[in-house]
Amino acid sequence: MMHHAHKIVVLGAAESGIGAALLAQKLGFDVFVSDKKTINEGYKQSLVQHRIAFEENGHSMPKILAAHEVIISPGIPLQIPMVQQIKAADIPVISEIEFAYRHTKAHLIAITGSNGKSTTATLTYELLKAGGLDVALAGNIGKSFAATLAERDHDYFVLEISSFQLDSMFKFKADVAILLNITPDHLDRYNYQFDAYAQSKMRIGMNQTSSDVFIYNADDIEITNRINKLNTPARLLPFSQNQELQNEGAYRLNQELIFKINNDNFTMNIEKLALQGRHNAYNTMAGGIAAKLQEIRKESIKNCLSDFQGIAHRLEKIADVRGVSFINDSKATNVNSTWYALESMSKPVVLILGGQDKGNDYSSLIELAREKVKAIVCLGIDNRKIFENFNGVVPTIIETMTASEAVQSAFYLASPGDVVLLSPACASFDLFESYEDRGNRFRRAVQDL
Ligand code: ADP
Repeated sequence: MMHHAHKIVVLGAAESGIGAALLAQKLGFDVFVSDKKTINEGYKQSLVQHRIAFEENGHSMPKILAAHEVIISPGIPLQIPMVQQIKAADIPVISEIEFAYRHTKAHLIAITGSNGKSTTATLTYELLKAGGLDVALAGNIGKSFAATLAERDHDYFVLEISSFQLDSMFKFKADVAILLNITPDHLDRYNYQFDAYAQSKMRIGMNQTSSDVFIYNADDIEITNRINKLNTPARLLPFSQNQELQNEGAYRLNQELIFKINNDNFTMNIEKLALQGRHNAYNTMAGGIAAKLQEIRKESIKNCLSDFQGIAHRLEKIADVRGVSFINDSKATNVNSTWYALESMSKPVVLILGGQDKGNDYSSLIELAREKVKAIVCLGIDNRKIFENFNGVVPTIIETMTASEAVQSAFYLASPGDVVLLSPACASFDLFESYEDRGNRFRRAVQDL
């Protein structure tokens, strides 16, 4: 192969970086992996096993600057001096998704949005699988795109893609792009400029042609405002809960979701949907359109939509303890997802809120909090903004530092018939390893009551 002279450096050795390294190695490139921190044992073993050169606990710049191309993990901000130095040396910096894209023949369904990516990606994957297609689910969920591809190519990939990945994608083209919503998140990585973050999300439709499809939320003004300027030749398929669509797409009319694609309509009663809540009606429309486009049978789609199990840490019901329900929505790491969680609650709520703030504006939660929340249990180190925003709105606000302390306090504050909802609106990294860790500790604390 001709690849041998081509040097690839992978920055960051977690799911994305290891995947990129495995694929690059398999393709015969000269690969070097570099991580600022200690590499997790499992990933390290994988590098050793595949004889991939690596360093940890620091970056050696001469080695990195010898690269022909650098693959950057989504966790590394592009603004840091190291990355600026690489770019100044005219070395292309690309994401693992961009790299893997060059080496697949699959039909690609790429999903982004501020919220609902994992739910919609998983649902779309299940719909295609139930339709008998050879499909894999990858990207920002489970295994990376590159690692999955290193095993084998598939006919279809459903890819969950974050804005950080989009920022370093250039030639990538989705056959089907799905844009769920754009609400403030990760502003700390976009100089606190919402428009920069929104523009990043719009990149999901990059390079599309008239034979590609762009599925989007027509109720989201941030999307509709930007879609005309995009001037995309792609076929546009909107979905909406606010308006009846005249042309193709999906919309909600009272209790029905109506899908109109390829002159073939079908409807689904929202009470029959496995995924409940207004936000999930959006996710269901997006996934349903994508499945119908692949000519999956209507009956198969409808069965799958009513049987879908949902995924852990997203409004996941844990248990009822002496009349108090406990719900784990640990994946709610921004204000908008917590808004939808509160919106879908029909009982008084004790809300476990807080964590690492990413530039949150809590004002959109005030009204729902006044109406539904009887107490807030802070679970984070710095809770000043929560007190500032909810003092006088919610009668009781207390602080805790562990999941079990939070669960016990919430249980004490709740009465039979109430809900204890973990929906933090913040990242978890101040007190936990990840949102999964936070959700798992919450679950265990509930089981210990
Ligand atoms: P992502 O992968 O984009 O983070 P998830 O599907 O994991 O999205 O859901 C994250 C959180 O957002 C959960 O708390 C979930 O209840 C909420 N959520 C899911 N879909 C939507 C949506 N379409 N709009 C707003 N919030 C949503």
